[in-house]
Amino acid sequence: MKEALRLRAEIARLEGDLERLKRQLHLLQNECEHEFIETPLARTCTKCLQTESLYY
Ligand SMILES: [Zn+2]
Repeated sequence: MKEALRLRAEIARLEGDLERLKRQLHLLQNECEHEFIETPLARTCTKCLQTESLYY
């Protein structure tokens, strides 16, 4: 029980971190002046790693 509570608290903390980091990356990608390199399937920005699929 105690171990389970500890694990649950740690999961909640890490999920909070994950959300925060995703937001940070999203912000960075929004402000980036992208420089894409293209492959046949997708293009990826070399600066912020934003990837766009070329498949529709
Ligand atoms: Zn970029």
